[in-house]
Amino acid sequence: MRTLVVLSCVLVVGAALPGLHTNLHGAQVLRVAPEEAAQVHYLKALHLQDLYDFWTEPRVVGSPVDIMAPAFQLPVLKKTLTQVGLKFTTMISDVGGLVAQEKAARDAARASAPGTMDWTSYHEYDEIMGWMDTVAKDHPDVCTVENVGKSYQQHDMKLLKLGKGVNKPIIFLEGGLEGREWISPAVLTYIIDQLVTKKETYDDLLSNVNFYFMPIVNPDGYYYTYTTDRLWRKTRSKTNSPQNCYGVDANRNWDIHWMEVGASDDPCSEEYAGSEPFSEVEMRNVRDEIIKYSDYIDAYLSFHSYSQLWSSPWCWTTDLPDDWTDLDDLAHSIVEAVTAVHGEVYETGSCALSGPASGGSADWAKAVVDAKYSYTIELRDKGEFGFLLPEDQIIPTGEETMAGVLVLANFIKDNYS
Ligand SMILES: [Zn+2]
Repeated sequence: MRTLVVLSCVLVVGAALPGLHTNLHGAQVLRVAPEEAAQVHYLKALHLQDLYDFWTEPRVVGSPVDIMAPAFQLPVLKKTLTQVGLKFTTMISDVGGLVAQEKAARDAARASAPGTMDWTSYHEYDEIMGWMDTVAKDHPDVCTVENVGKSYQQHDMKLLKLGKGVNKPIIFLEGGLEGREWISPAVLTYIIDQLVTKKETYDDLLSNVNFYFMPIVNPDGYYYTYTTDRLWRKTRSKTNSPQNCYGVDANRNWDIHWMEVGASDDPCSEEYAGSEPFSEVEMRNVRDEIIKYSDYIDAYLSFHSYSQLWSSPWCWTTDLPDDWTDLDDLAHSIVEAVTAVHGEVYETGSCALSGPASGGSADWAKAVVDAKYSYTIELRDKGEFGFLLPEDQIIPTGEETMAGVLVLANFIKDNYS
């Protein structure tokens, strides 16, 4: 009860702060460990207030929650947490410092090898799209690139089709739904590169399975993380918000139990689901591609960061699909292969365990176009750097994820081709 009393006084603070990321100097990420149900409820209520940037969402007792606060808000946040008895540790002591470090590394990489695609640094949207065209030009025997539409801000959205099989099963891989999750497009491009540069090794696979890649399905958000706000998550469409808030959470906008859970109708929220399902042109573009090939899509992979998780549907409810065992069994084989590469542990389980959320792409793909093996993957790390994963972890993350994707792809080849 005491908790609830305190709760009511600290939560009357009001509307969201659109400028949450404007000054990251001295901003910190605190890891909070709820030890009882009331504390989880408290954190969920705090999350809804949009006063702080929750890097991970409140779930259950014992499951840590990472909260970022700008320097000027830190004392209030710490006091608030202490008042309700919540223990916390500092995960990242200077977010601004990390962002600056990351930018310096990227600038140095670009100065030493301008215009080169590699996986020792992160790359901008235009570089990645240009590289996809080059890959298709260099490997016309196994791949093609199609422009599937334009984003809200008129960025081209490209689909890279890799494989030689005619009327063969398709594995659809997308990433970059949330702008700040840079490791997602980095890993997807890594996998493309591996498959094309070792196409002889993977000949049997590429003859029997087709991989369809959309590495960045939220181009405007990704672009914005390079130009303006490294921690931007949503799309960049204009909303009707009086506070002038922009963008929709691209993983809440799909027409699957839309706005039912873990989503917000407040345009200033990080989890704003949009004015209606598929309000975002980017999501409509991806949807239309998926529908075109729906007869052949047997697996659907949506790549995110962070927390090291290979999760199965549903994301919107803890209820399990009828074929849960099939998905869970395969997920276990996948993470076994992933962990074998560098010893990094990835969990499996229902996607809803990371906080139920409706309107996501993987749920939509399974429920609407019957992509049976539909997974949501949270890549590295477990919070030491969070969204600011250092570039020297791109290749290791790519290597272990590749191992997992190969297990899935071979399974699809053996059972569906
Ligand atoms: Zn994500």
